Amino acid sequence: MPYVYDDQNIFAKILRGEIPNDTVLETEHCLAFKDINPQAPVHILVIPKGPYVCFAHFAAEASDAELVDFNRTIGKVCRMAGVAEDGYRTISNAGVNGLQEVPHLHMHILGGQVLGPLLART
Ligand code: AMP
Repeated sequence: MPYVYDDQNIFAKILRGEIPNDTVLETEHCLAFKDINPQAPVHILVIPKGPYVCFAHFAAEASDAELVDFNRTIGKVCRMAGVAEDGYRTISNAGVNGLQEVPHLHMHILGGQVLGPLLART
C-alpha cells in the first residue's frame, strides 16, 4: 500500500514557516525543535524536511543523504541537549497502534530524568 502524505499536518506547516517553533538545530534535510507539550525535562522532536509519514516510509523511500542526516542529527541533538551521557530514549510513534498524532515522521528524544518503563501498563 503506498504511503499517502497529508501536507496540511502541523509539522508540514512548521516546515513551511506557517507556524512558529522553538528550533534546536536545522540541517540540510532535518529540523529539530522542542516539543510543545514536554513529557520530560528534555523533549525534542527531530523531523526530516521531506514528506514522509512514518519511519517505515522514510526508510523505504528517503535518499541516502536524508537517511544519514536524520540519524546524525538525532545523535547531535542528544549531545547538544546534554542527555548523551546520562541516557535518553528515542521513540517514533507510527500509525493507529502507535498512537501517532502528527502524520509526519518525527523522532522524540526524551531525557533529563529516569524515564520509567517503556510502555505504560493499562
Ligand atoms: P506523536 O503522538 O508521536 O505523533 O507526537 C506528536 C508530538 O507533537 C506530541 O508530543 C505533541 O506535543 C507535539 N506537537 C504537536 N504540535 C506541536 C507544535 N506546534 N510544536 C511542537 N510540538 C508539537
